[in-house]
Amino acid sequence: IQWTEGRGWHDARLEPYAPLQLDPANMTLHYAQSIFEGLKAYRQPDGSVKVFRPDANARRFQRSARRLAMPELPVETFIEACDLLVGQDKAWVPSEGEASLYLRPFMFASEVGLGVKPANQYTFMVIASPAGSYFPGGVEPVSVWLSEEYVRAAPGGTGEAKCAGNYAASLVAQAEAAEHGCDQVVWLDAVERRHIEEMGGMNLYFVYGSGADARIVTPALTGTLLPGITRDSLLRIAADMGYETGEARITTDEWRAGNADGSLTEVFACGTAAVITPVGEVKSSRDEWKVGDGTAGEITLRLREALLAVQTGHAEDTHGWMHTLGS
Ligand code: PMP
Repeated sequence: IQWTEGRGWHDARLEPYAPLQLDPANMTLHYAQSIFEGLKAYRQPDGSVKVFRPDANARRFQRSARRLAMPELPVETFIEACDLLVGQDKAWVPSEGEASLYLRPFMFASEVGLGVKPANQYTFMVIASPAGSYFPGGVEPVSVWLSEEYVRAAPGGTGEAKCAGNYAASLVAQAEAAEHGCDQVVWLDAVERRHIEEMGGMNLYFVYGSGADARIVTPALTGTLLPGITRDSLLRIAADMGYETGEARITTDEWRAGNADGSLTEVFACGTAAVITPVGEVKSSRDEWKVGDGTAGEITLRLREALLAVQTGHAEDTHGWMHTLGS
């Protein structure tokens, strides 16, 4: 579907997957007006296909658009596009275990020109790709690198938006993490470099205590981290399960201290791709430590199961989060 200044959205159509032809002066290539979303459609026990909270992705897409001076796509159009694509052939949606159909809606400037200004033409597209289980061999903890040199987002910047540039800026830190033998980067705040923000593609959660008395805390939304839909959903699921939940600013030294005195029992990351991933090990330029005994924690696994049960249709959708596609 296209957007043109003065005309709005027009020319919605379904096309077979194929390369795009771009003018060398396409403005996105030079000035990065590019935003995206990621959703998963799961096969339900009755054979239907449902996607998790697409309205939340659609609204985040609108917020990203506003931040990048791009036009907002109506929420209904966003969901209708996913619906039309899945409806083409529901056989694309895998039916085994945690496998899903990954949907990638995105929008970019399609105007041709070299002047720096908001474009007057945009293209919105959705691509779909089957995704296997994230952990085919069972849930495995990741090791993380505390990035003290690079920052992902500064106050007033685009950290809250899901825009291409944020990911471009993160790649060098991801490479640094890999050099230190870590799977993922943990980003810190840009101002003091000590508050924990999020990971490359996931939000973080900290579990204090254990059993029914556990307290589950996630870094507060400060404007420089992505408001994850999984993060938001887990705040509600954890509360439904009777846990005390909270949002707070957490420093790296609090992480070290909680780990040392045993009050911080589990840490996990969450996002659409991996649902929930335990964090097993942390490294920084000056130290490293294991989270708990380095294996997936009990509460981490309970929350993961509870969320996946809703997404795959094995638990009641008490919040009205699941949306049928391609019916
Ligand atoms: N933070 C970042 C930077 C991300 O790219 C993602 C993935 N969209 C998340 C957090 C998790 O968000 P969600 O739960 O909506 O997938």
